[in-house]
Amino acid sequence: MECKQCGKCCQHPCALEPNDLEKISDYLNITIEELIDKYLILDYWMTTEESLYYFTPKRVGDNGTKIASFSWAFSDKSCMFLENNLCKIHDVKPRGGREWICGMEEEPYSKHEAGMLWKGNKYLEVGK
Ligand code: SF4
Ligand code: SF4
Repeated sequence: MECKQCGKCCQHPCALEPNDLEKISDYLNITIEELIDKYLILDYWMTTEESLYYFTPKRVGDNGTKIASFSWAFSDKSCMFLENNLCKIHDVKPRGGREWICGMEEEPYSKHEAGMLWKGNKYLEVGK
């Protein structure tokens, strides 16, 4: 389906992959630590054994929020990178945003997969 740029899909900020940290920070010309501090939040997926953390963009208006809460997850405030219904980091858009096709019932890059990819990543500690 053709994208009508309504911006609705970006009310659910897309999960990053670990290599997105370098790509996005280079694109914005800031350090990875600055990227995490200013633009990212830690979200998580709970399995029966553990909570798997991964980075995702903050929402508009998030200040100082480091770890996603239940109300954050179900907020309808858009991703901080959405500007005039366009992705401000389109050239380095995370996989979840790139692979999304309007009308999909499930995200192409699942939160469980994201959590598994981020497991043990040193930058998770920077985000906490
Ligand atoms: S892909 Fe996203 S922005 Fe485009 S029409 Fe669908 S929900 Fe709207
Ligand atoms: S990073 Fe871009 S594609 Fe992903 S949710 Fe934010 S605005 Fe949308």
